[in-house]
Amino acid sequence: MTDVVTRFAPSPTGFLHIGGARTALFNWAFARHHGGRFLLRIEDTDSARSTPEATAAIHEGMRWLGLDHDGEAISQASRAARHADVAHVMLENGTAYRCYASKAEIDAYREQAKAEGRPPMFPSPWRDKGPADWPEGAARDGYVIRLKAPREGEVTVEDAVQGTVTWKAGKLDDLILLRSDGTPVYMLAVVVDDHDMGVTHVIRGDDHLTNAARQSLIYRAMGWDVPVFAHIPLIHGPDGAKLSKRHGALGVEAYRAMGYLPAGMRNYLARLGWAHGDDELFSTQQLVDWFGLEAIGKSAARFDFQKLAAVNGHHMREADDATLLAAMADVAAQDKAVLEAADLSKEQINAITAARAPLAEEARRAMLLAAMPGLKERAKTLVELIELAHYILANRPLVPDAKAAKNLSGDAAVLIGRLTPQLRNASPWDGTTLEAVVRDFAEAEGLKLGKVAQPLRAALTARAISPGVFDVMQTLGRDETIARLGDVAGD
Ligand code: GLU
Repeated sequence: MTDVVTRFAPSPTGFLHIGGARTALFNWAFARHHGGRFLLRIEDTDSARSTPEATAAIHEGMRWLGLDHDGEAISQASRAARHADVAHVMLENGTAYRCYASKAEIDAYREQAKAEGRPPMFPSPWRDKGPADWPEGAARDGYVIRLKAPREGEVTVEDAVQGTVTWKAGKLDDLILLRSDGTPVYMLAVVVDDHDMGVTHVIRGDDHLTNAARQSLIYRAMGWDVPVFAHIPLIHGPDGAKLSKRHGALGVEAYRAMGYLPAGMRNYLARLGWAHGDDELFSTQQLVDWFGLEAIGKSAARFDFQKLAAVNGHHMREADDATLLAAMADVAAQDKAVLEAADLSKEQINAITAARAPLAEEARRAMLLAAMPGLKERAKTLVELIELAHYILANRPLVPDAKAAKNLSGDAAVLIGRLTPQLRNASPWDGTTLEAVVRDFAEAEGLKLGKVAQPLRAALTARAISPGVFDVMQTLGRDETIARLGDVAGD
């Protein structure tokens, strides 16, 4: 296939939500697979609801997800004159007509139809009228332009996902193309823009399927090629119901704040509705190599946070250490309001915001990089990574959490006090030597290694879970290790 052109056409009325991000990803992957172009059109015609903040959030969300679009983003609102021109061309070629019916007249018709149990579609008496019938004087300008939808036969859309979908002609009304104030409607704008942008494939949510039927009428009225439509099933919650906030209906900025990697998101989102055999874990390059419309399923995909975390964990382990360090800093730099809107606990938000300053310190960054191979094996998200790296990010004296405090109770402080001089003299300061020192100490005390390692870990990390305690000591270095043990044992 040559010259593939796809587009993502969000309405800037809120954040870039997860369904929109998946639509963007599919269009991006399809274009990249075919060496084609992926365009971005901001559908900002609803000036009452469109905001510059929402447009900025869309751009930022796409940038973060790595979905680069070709050329400048197009503003639909800026093309209103062109949309109106097309309505007039349709008027000229007889596929549209001037309708002078008043709102009161249409409402009255609908009410009566309802009362009589008939379809509410208004059959305009102006459909087959010509200039001779139009009102005289000022009233002559008070019309809308309506599409002459077919009254007989069927309207068919060949959809790459849904197959052949047909509507009885009478089910599609003579939709308004141009309002009486000369402004175009959304349905017309989409078709004109897609045509003018050379869009060959329209991949979008299946809530637009009926729109495709109406839109195909406009294409045909203008003698334009109808693009390939691919309407993808919407994303549902794990329970099969409409996606709720608790189940993932959040903006992409929330996923960024929750510590998912763009590569993990791309992998997971791709699997929401598309499959490549049984492959669950793949790189973005593999996605591009494999992506095609034929492998998009017809049934609704279910969003599952656990699966997302598992996929993300894989991409964390695959990522190089410097990338992870930068991504940690990115999470720590998120606005408090964004963190609060995401699905994060109070403790997590505190850990993230507390990490901001230390993550900017050179010495600490060096320590994090050194510890990263051990840390990234244990974390499924960047937030977990921040929590796990607490022992590097926190300042002395450390405040143990409840479990660590328990491990430091009883005679733990005394034990650590006895162990400290031996560790101070350990040479060289490496994992093997440190382990040998602690083992010898445990043996001399008649204790199992764990009985010493547990309080040691609690003293050094303020947590009950951490990377291997000898790795921790090596990362912290001799001085910091001894100082932290002193904080607990009271030297
Ligand atoms: N602006 C529409 C939306 O955000 C998409 C229109 C389209 O893809 O054709 O739902």
